[in-house]
Amino acid sequence: MRLRNNPKAYEIMKENADLVILKPEEHKGHYHDIFEINQPLYIEIGMGKGDFIYQNALKHPENNYIGIEKFPSVLAAAINKINKNQSLPNLKLMHFDAIELENVFENGEIDHLFLNFSDPWPKKRHAKRRLTSSAFLNVYRRLLKKDGVIEFKTDNRGLFEYSLQSVTENNYHLDYVSLDLHNSPEAGDNIMTEYERKFSVNGPIYKMIISDCKE
Ligand code: SAM
Repeated sequence: MRLRNNPKAYEIMKENADLVILKPEEHKGHYHDIFEINQPLYIEIGMGKGDFIYQNALKHPENNYIGIEKFPSVLAAAINKINKNQSLPNLKLMHFDAIELENVFENGEIDHLFLNFSDPWPKKRHAKRRLTSSAFLNVYRRLLKKDGVIEFKTDNRGLFEYSLQSVTENNYHLDYVSLDLHNSPEAGDNIMTEYERKFSVNGPIYKMIISDCKE
């Protein structure tokens, strides 16, 4: 996501403290306190400008949603976009790198995780940074509830193949796979992300839904 550095990004975050959780680690284990209603917690890691998480929160008032983004300028763009729409009591945003996930969430605190068009990190020496690497899958395993689910979409075939192998090696259960989401029966319910809208003209969108085989 190429956005020019926005020097006012932190200011924008502070001005929108009703939407942005400014000190996420202070809420570890107590995320339900920041929402009006205690209901399932859905997280998107790397939400970009936030279209997907906003549309989900709008469509599903029965869930709480948090969008995570590591670049302040991108998060500021998401805030500005969301503020043009109606505000939603079940949506919050946070700025941090997913590497910090375990400092921010308690084990078993998350019901559902979305990874949409995650950065592919094509070089082998950067493989650990992929959000479907073994290291991240093990973190998600701890943070997800017993019946927790991860949904992953990408247009990048190499990343999808890598992720299929990674989830299998890490003993996740493959609940659903599509090699062409937009031409599948699930296309009707699919909420598109910004990247998806832009890049699906070039080729298929891949999707998998996985869950942990916890006892
Ligand atoms: N999910 C959005 C979409 O589909 O339109 C954005 C996709 S964009 C390719 C990837 C986004 O993930 C970028 O905004 C990037 O800054 C963010 N991101 C990448 N690695 C991250 C990490 N480790 N923690 C949090 N955000 C991350």
